[in-house]
Amino acid sequence: MQTQSLINIPDIKIPEITLIRDVNKHLLRGHRWIFADCFDGKATTGLALLKLRNDILAIGLVQADTQLRFRLLCLTEEPFFRMNNIPQSLLNWSENQFNKAIELRASFRSNETNSFRLINGEGDGLPGLIIDIYDHTAVIKHDHSVCEQFYNHQGIALKLTSVMPFIKNVYYKKRNDLEIKGVDVLGSLQPEVLFKENGASFASNIRDAAKTGFFLDQRDNRKLIGQFSKGKSVLNLFSYTGGFSIFAALGGAIDVTSVDIAKAAIVAAERNFEVNKIETKHTAIAADAFLYIDEQIKNKQKWDLVITDPPSFAPNQKAVEAATAAYTKVFSNSLKLVKNNGMFAASSCSSHISSDMFLDICREAFSKTRKKGTLVYFGGQPFDHPYPLAMDELRYLKFALFRLD
Ligand code: SAH
Repeated sequence: MQTQSLINIPDIKIPEITLIRDVNKHLLRGHRWIFADCFDGKATTGLALLKLRNDILAIGLVQADTQLRFRLLCLTEEPFFRMNNIPQSLLNWSENQFNKAIELRASFRSNETNSFRLINGEGDGLPGLIIDIYDHTAVIKHDHSVCEQFYNHQGIALKLTSVMPFIKNVYYKKRNDLEIKGVDVLGSLQPEVLFKENGASFASNIRDAAKTGFFLDQRDNRKLIGQFSKGKSVLNLFSYTGGFSIFAALGGAIDVTSVDIAKAAIVAAERNFEVNKIETKHTAIAADAFLYIDEQIKNKQKWDLVITDPPSFAPNQKAVEAATAAYTKVFSNSLKLVKNNGMFAASSCSSHISSDMFLDICREAFSKTRKKGTLVYFGGQPFDHPYPLAMDELRYLKFALFRLD
């Protein structure tokens, strides 16, 4: 049974972890995280029952080494949960969550798009589990080692191939800082995986790439950039492998410039132009975008459309103030590179910067450069990146397209 199940359940008695603060209301509303200050300090990484006074409220994963201490899997009040048969309850729970996630994406795969996020962690009720699909390849990723013990990759691979027979390879991608980059769970990962997004083709070296291989979350925003690029010169700052650049070119841009500090990303951006057989002039520059912006301001160089999608500047709550200043600066400097009546797209993937904070940052950036902006579009992550309504922090992606007036 274990090999086919989606999760591994330990044979030993499941330990308890006791709350010192009543956070039940927060859990009943759909929040899934409890931080270290709600516990008395003693914790062991692994599966645990969450106890408040004499009641067992839930079962979840304990991370003894992080401030995020407990990730809720399932409340004991769920109708299918049986205290006298926890293994079976968890097996039912995991099957149910997987089926719901698959159902949500049921009609999504098409000739135009065969890359999507199948499981978005807490957003699909499967904490710490990410599964992205790149045509025939599924990539599993976790953000903590406890998830590696809990989720059963073999069982997941079996499930994936049974419901999506087009999947031939399943790869488990470990955290980037580890020596072993990943393991083949099923088949063997191709050095270059090709996939489609809204009609464009992309190639990714998944093993060495960022995240699971591509920033799938910008899909809708990349499509939008394509729709606004006709006849324009486009500058894509922090371009990674050229996602926005490809859509700009396919949308009829007259020339496109991609800038990223990672040489491998720039080489991959050029490869993506090749894969799409695009003839548009593409200048791919491996450089520090902050320095590049300063130089181009000095050169008085300007573009019709500038996209600025930097990495997260706020990895935690403490960094928010510094990050706000950094975003304001990079956006206001980017605005100096936009021609009169041109367009500017700004994005932030930091979960600690809310939508309101992000728009305030944009207002400040416009004001600093003494320009007026019209908000043409404001969006975020696409529907394959859902999040619990009670966890606004998981609505991490912000993307705004402005016209300069
Ligand atoms: N827009 C991209 C994703 C960008 S992710 C897409 O749609 O796929 C952020 C990128 O910023 C990463 O590729 C990272 O290499 C790059 N980066 C980080 N610091 C940088 C810097 N100082 N200058 C230029 N690029 C940088």
